[in-house]
Amino acid sequence: MVKVETLKNYINGEWVESKTTQFEDIYDPAKKEVIAKVPLSTKEELDYAVEVAAKAFESWKKVPVTKRTKVLFNFQQLLEKNKQELARIITIENGKNLTEALGEVGRGIENVEFASGAPTLMMGDSLSTIATDVEVTNYRYPIGVVGGITPFNFPMMVPCWMFPTAIAVGNTFVLKPSERTPLLANRLAELLEEAGLPKGVFNVVHGAHDVVNGLLDHPEVKAISFVGSKPVGEYVYKRGSQNLKRVQALTGAKNHSIVLNDADLELATTNVIASAFGSAGERCMACAVVTVEEGIADEFLEKLVEKAKAVKIGHGLDEGVFLGPVIREQNQQRTLGYIQTGIDEGAKLVCDGRENAPEEGYFVGPTIFDDVTTDMTIWKDEIFAPVLSIVRVKNLKEAVETANKSEFANGACIYTSNASAIRYFRENIDAGMLGINLGVPAPIAFFPFSGWKSSFFGTLPANGKDGVEFYTHKKVVTANYKTPSFE
Ligand code: NAD
Repeated sequence: MVKVETLKNYINGEWVESKTTQFEDIYDPAKKEVIAKVPLSTKEELDYAVEVAAKAFESWKKVPVTKRTKVLFNFQQLLEKNKQELARIITIENGKNLTEALGEVGRGIENVEFASGAPTLMMGDSLSTIATDVEVTNYRYPIGVVGGITPFNFPMMVPCWMFPTAIAVGNTFVLKPSERTPLLANRLAELLEEAGLPKGVFNVVHGAHDVVNGLLDHPEVKAISFVGSKPVGEYVYKRGSQNLKRVQALTGAKNHSIVLNDADLELATTNVIASAFGSAGERCMACAVVTVEEGIADEFLEKLVEKAKAVKIGHGLDEGVFLGPVIREQNQQRTLGYIQTGIDEGAKLVCDGRENAPEEGYFVGPTIFDDVTTDMTIWKDEIFAPVLSIVRVKNLKEAVETANKSEFANGACIYTSNASAIRYFRENIDAGMLGINLGVPAPIAFFPFSGWKSSFFGTLPANGKDGVEFYTHKKVVTANYKTPSFE
């Protein structure tokens, strides 16, 4: 029998066993098999990690930025070298297929590459003459210990939205990964150590709400980066802000795609399938609703259902598998509950994901409802599973008005070849990340991940220059150089 390991915390460059009495099982969700155990660490353990990080900050902030980024260059090389292994860990603990997992690793690496530009990103501004012989310069400084709280769906990419930039600009970091996908964080810690990161700069404390509350309450934690669901993000934002920290909370989503009569149907259906059912619909940029113009709706739906039925379901490590499991039995049951609610509320089930879903894992097949209306629960709630709603509309104006009724506003896409329609969509849709004739408009690391409405709480989102801004503060120096004349 294979021994099930219990994960350790990584604090001050040491692998430490948690003293907690509470543990959770970590599963391979495609097999319902326990693969490891994660400790739900105590507040005292978190406090210790924060103190260590606060001490490390005193020296790390003084390391020249060009030396700090050398560590990130080394880290980038190690991530490239270990890409396959990292992707396998993601597939095993999360369930997404290996190609998607490799894509996630690539996205994580991209963030490290962005952060390696810290010498340029940290440059301030100056104005040589604001009065006679008086000039102003601003300098950027790190803020201290940053806490990162991350979700289960991107165990590599989401932590990489946070710590590479945070540490490159001179902060230290305490990561609390999702207790459902915590394995990858430990591998990242090992690689950071191998890259030459000094002790205490990056720490991992496993756990759940006690560790989160510890981060939100500790006075030495100056900023919180959170990614997860809306209710938890709202709680994190309120409690962190109340404790006078800066908080960025990237939260839930219900993303709409609009398909117009002139859309390329092959392109639209292929992209909608990839967006709605890729990663089992467990992506904050997944397409959850297609709002389609009446003139093309029947043809679109026929093609879409045909493609959905052809999707290969199974273990993400197996050749050709597209759709893996949802993360836990609870998520599977919740999804089946939503499917029943959709039927009960009068939506038309045109592709039933309950049929042919393999029983050996927490699988739900591609599910499509037609004739969905905005008063239905399946239209309103973030289901976060492979369940897609189709809403039929008269025209683009109605499509945009429909999408804008959602409380969420993360991403939105349009499929059309009409430039005026694209402009109308861009100007009128409530969403922070837009896709034109593509399905997952998740911005690359150099641009902000900028949800609107209930999809984001805060001022500065993750990534790009906004990330640098979030993790730094400035000193603005006004200097009077009036001196005796040299003439
Ligand atoms: P979650 O909110 O359940 O968990 C996120 C983190 O919060 C985890 O680390 C978890 O341990 C912690 N947490 C959970 N409940 C808590 C509580 N009661 N008190 C304190 N901490 C708590 O989210 P999840 O299920 O892991 O991830 C899925 C969600 O994340 C979806 O809603 C998805 O849209 C969202 N997400 C958003 C983005 C984005 O960029 N907007 C990206 C990825 C995922």
